[in-house]
Amino acid sequence: MNLVAAFALSRQGRLSTAIVTPPAQPFRIVPSEPCPSLCPLLPIMPNSVHPLDSDFVRDQLVARTTDVNGKRTRPDGAWVLYWMQSTQRVHENWGLRAAIRAADKVGKPLIIHQGLDPSYPHASDRHHHHILHAARDTAAAADAAGLPYDFVLRARRDDDRRVVDRLAEQAYVVITDRFPTAGVDARTWRLAERIGCRVLAIDSACVVPSGALTKAEWAARTIRPKLAKLRDHALERVEERPPRTALSSDLVQRVHEARRSDVLPLRAWRTAEQADAAIAQFIARCEIDHTVAPVAQVVPGARAAQQRLESFIRERLAEYTTRRNEAADDHTSHLSPDLHFGHIAAADVLRAALASDAPQADIDAFTDQVLTWRELSYNWCLHTPRFDQLDALPDWIRRTMAAHADDVRPESYSLEQLDAADTDDALWNASQRQLVQAGVIHNYARMLWGKQIVRWAPTYELARAWMFHLNDRYALDGRDPNSVGGIMWCLGLWDRSWGNKPIWGGIRPMLTSRAGKKFDVGRYVRRWGSETLR
Ligand SMILES: Cc1cc2nc3c(=O)[nH]c(=O)nc-3n(C[C@H](O)[C@H](O)[C@H](O)COP(=O)(O)OP(=O)(O)OC[C@H]3O[C@@H](n4cnc5c(N)ncnc54)[C@H](O)[C@@H]3O)c2cc1C
Repeated sequence: MNLVAAFALSRQGRLSTAIVTPPAQPFRIVPSEPCPSLCPLLPIMPNSVHPLDSDFVRDQLVARTTDVNGKRTRPDGAWVLYWMQSTQRVHENWGLRAAIRAADKVGKPLIIHQGLDPSYPHASDRHHHHILHAARDTAAAADAAGLPYDFVLRARRDDDRRVVDRLAEQAYVVITDRFPTAGVDARTWRLAERIGCRVLAIDSACVVPSGALTKAEWAARTIRPKLAKLRDHALERVEERPPRTALSSDLVQRVHEARRSDVLPLRAWRTAEQADAAIAQFIARCEIDHTVAPVAQVVPGARAAQQRLESFIRERLAEYTTRRNEAADDHTSHLSPDLHFGHIAAADVLRAALASDAPQADIDAFTDQVLTWRELSYNWCLHTPRFDQLDALPDWIRRTMAAHADDVRPESYSLEQLDAADTDDALWNASQRQLVQAGVIHNYARMLWGKQIVRWAPTYELARAWMFHLNDRYALDGRDPNSVGGIMWCLGLWDRSWGNKPIWGGIRPMLTSRAGKKFDVGRYVRRWGSETLR
């Protein structure tokens, strides 16, 4: 069975009927024998750049590609459509690379379409602001690279919702991002059923092509060595270039007609002030939650992400091991929102860390987070049906939950109290305030935040639902495979049994009252709230 087929078979049941191995067509990604992405012993060429039409790129793409609908390409299609969803950048973008290769192969032009809808869960000023501001960087980078890119905003729910369909109906092939959460895969699979040509979804989120691992891994310890073997080969560099065929003025006109909707005039905003004002006006018109405000201190986009990466490598990677758990200190990278939206590539983050002169222990500790733990979350979501539900958890957890379902919860809060950071636990309230104000929670505080919800919610199911609700509503990095990984970890995933305690059963207990052993709780609480410690 080839990787594409293996991938297809591992998808969630409700979609699997639509997926078949496609018939031979002019544009196919054909694996070489053997596939280098599965052969860790192949030589590493850190300083060479693979041409876009090289076998290296083809083989990486094989392990990153899912044929979503098994339909044929459309030989008389006007263009190749790259539908940018979760990889919101033009650099180090495997979907875009596949689209350029496809366009060159059949001598057609490429168009890049990105859209934003008001209807996704938790759509708010915060997320819209982040995406719209970042789109300016994407437009500028696309212009500089000679790539035709447009952004269409659907402000109201009853505005035209079929722009991508009309672009896709004239495409030779549609290529988009593979991303199991934030509704991305679901949207892709729906489009693939509606339209009459091939749709390919390509993973750019993972450093090691996600198709190289064909089943859900048990734990960090099982995925770590596999990723480590494949890492350096996957990090080899690839030429970035535009397609060979330009979009003619006739086709530009056809693209305009197909869009019909307002294209965001990203290029017209010359200054940040102009952009701020225009984007605020657009957001005000959108039918979204206006009560969750943008996070002023996080500058969105690829350029700011690159600066965040550079300052982290320069100033904080050294001592990452010893200082990253100090929750009040900001000693981590703060890259999770950038990684979530694809404003920066995990591969670039990893390359920068590996090339730094920080102590090896710090490089290793950081690599373990950004490669092992992050890709463990992707692996779980890609290979587990109903990955965010309790019934996806291993048997031992479901048994322990059943045995402790009726345990009395001596402390209990409602979702409204949690949302308002109105509990008797000053540390927990501080972490909830950090989430609401800063759009993230420090990792160690986030573990405690989730574990307390497990302890306080009336049922495990409510604990799960409340964690997702609060995390995804406020977190700039929310609705990510890592959101699923972190929340399911709080419920026992990838862990062993820790005995048999009231409420927890065998799930690892973690209490805010013991957090003082790990970090300066007083300083964290002072930073994120005015409460005194009780
Ligand atoms: C209950 C709970 C919910 C979480 N929700 C999210 C979420 O919505 N989005 C999200 O990106 N992460 C989530 N995490 C994981 C983790 O807390 C964040 O990735 C991390 O705090 C981001 O901060 P940073 O970028 O400064 O991390 P750094 O320490 O600088 O790490 C670099 C990168 O490695 C990855 N990483 C770090 N820690 C983890 C981890 N424990 N698991 C997986 N990947 C990790 C992230 O991509 C991160 O950006 C959650 C964890 C828990 C316990």
